[in-house]
Amino acid sequence: SPNVGNALAAPCVFITLSMNLPSQAFPSLSLCTQYGIVLDAGSSHTAMFVYKWPADKENDTGIVSQHSMCDVEGGGISSYAENPPAAGKSLKQCLDQAVSDVPKERHPLTPLYLGATAGMRLLTDPQASDGVLSAVTSTLKSYPFDFRGAKILSGEDEGLFGWVTANYLLENFIKVCPAGLKPTLGAMDLGGASTQITFETQKLIEDPQNGVTLRLYGQTYKVYTHSFLCYGRDQILRRMLSKVDGYKTSVSNPCWPKGYRRNFTLQDVYDSPCTAPEKPDSYDPQRTINMGGSGDAAQCRLHVDSLFNFTRCGFTSCSFDGVFQPGLSGNFIAFSAFFYTVDFIQKGGLISFLSVPSFFPAHGAKLLTKAPQLEKRLPDYCAVANFVHLLITKGYRFDEISFPNIAFQKKAGDTSIGWALGYMLNLTNMIPADEAGFRKAANY
Ligand code: AMP
Repeated sequence: SPNVGNALAAPCVFITLSMNLPSQAFPSLSLCTQYGIVLDAGSSHTAMFVYKWPADKENDTGIVSQHSMCDVEGGGISSYAENPPAAGKSLKQCLDQAVSDVPKERHPLTPLYLGATAGMRLLTDPQASDGVLSAVTSTLKSYPFDFRGAKILSGEDEGLFGWVTANYLLENFIKVCPAGLKPTLGAMDLGGASTQITFETQKLIEDPQNGVTLRLYGQTYKVYTHSFLCYGRDQILRRMLSKVDGYKTSVSNPCWPKGYRRNFTLQDVYDSPCTAPEKPDSYDPQRTINMGGSGDAAQCRLHVDSLFNFTRCGFTSCSFDGVFQPGLSGNFIAFSAFFYTVDFIQKGGLISFLSVPSFFPAHGAKLLTKAPQLEKRLPDYCAVANFVHLLITKGYRFDEISFPNIAFQKKAGDTSIGWALGYMLNLTNMIPADEAGFRKAANY
């Protein structure tokens, strides 16, 4: 990627206000502030983040913060596979906001990126994903910013950049503590279509696909990362529907509360590579199924458990589905839908997340009274909470001792935690491999 750092580091303009001149005669003070924009094109929706930092300090750590953000209305860009121009159009409202959020004179110096994640990785037809990417590219190019490309991130990049963001914001990279460098924090991200776990480890990484060595601020970090496609929140819910027996016209769902009923079509279930293993050879995509909740906590747990393979493992240790994972180490931060899920049930009065299995669905109604704005998502919380619980405990192997080491948090200060900031820091070369900043910090 091009080294844009120097081009961006316009010197601050210092103004002496001793002369009695009209204010328009002065260049704007905002020249001291640099901006960057990232569109996080997720499977369920796109979020735009505008970042800012002092132009002369861009290689320091923890200096970039979130200036503003915007949630794009409608679905993720992958949902426009059959109508790509609409994907480009959907971004306009947020991009118009960026035009006013960033001072005009900085527009041409403001890098603009779009990164798409698992929703786009799941589009198996390359023509469909190319069509969507070129439609969003032409919209992004029509804005006055310095557009640097629309790309699909690999699952590993998504995990690593989330880890970089969290540790950058919490200033773990160059701060020292009495025992040496501050330890880094592991990162867990739960999106709509995939989930990522990333942490620093001293242990042998038996599967080379899961190991990355990063050099940041003069330090070398050996990092384990894995992205599980089809283990995002929405794909999990879809996979659970696909496992319902036989598809009579009316079926029951143990994870939904008693009394809740909903219709869906078979196309809603099978129109995803994640449900391919369950897909019948022939079916009528328009056939409607009426499903009702039976509120059976034990059955729900079994149903969620059946989504994982906890036994197959060709390494000395695995998380699930035969994926290598070394023993856990250190503290973790869990964001996006991990945060939404745990925050929701904590608001509902669940003291310890570890008691999830016995909690639902008896308390479902109580939760609704405490968080009525979440009614739309309520029927799925039991399934998602059980999924998150199984993933963390039986999958990643957190136990009573290590579980309290996880902070469920969506922001650090005012900045959202996710891969977007780390992605921009990397592409603008704002995290140097070797940097005087490290020596500066070590001298404290
Ligand atoms: P995002 O981090 O926005 O890509 O969302 C990841 C997943 O979380 C998607 O399945 C969203 O539908 C879901 N989600 C977004 N907001 C909430 C919320 N407040 N409660 C529960 N799930 C949510």
